[in-house]
Amino acid sequence: MKSKAQTRKENRRKKKSKLCHCCGKTVMFCWNCRCGFSMCQDCMYENQWGMTCNGITWECPDCGGQNGFGNQ
Ligand SMILES: [Zn+2]
Ligand SMILES: [Zn+2]
Repeated sequence: MKSKAQTRKENRRKKKSKLCHCCGKTVMFCWNCRCGFSMCQDCMYENQWGMTCNGITWECPDCGGQNGFGNQ
């Protein structure tokens, strides 16, 4: 019986967890604005109706700047 040894030495990357400014949760992915505002995928989905009018860009509630989807 082989033991499941999961020792990865090549795990250089630190887990980049980000803090959602909207719900306060720590998430793996956030939409970011140049002003430093970040919002998680869940919050973005919930607030999408109020933050985007075309599905291509979203408006930052902090600075009002326009940010593109998928163009980080
Ligand atoms: Zn959130
Ligand atoms: Zn902003």
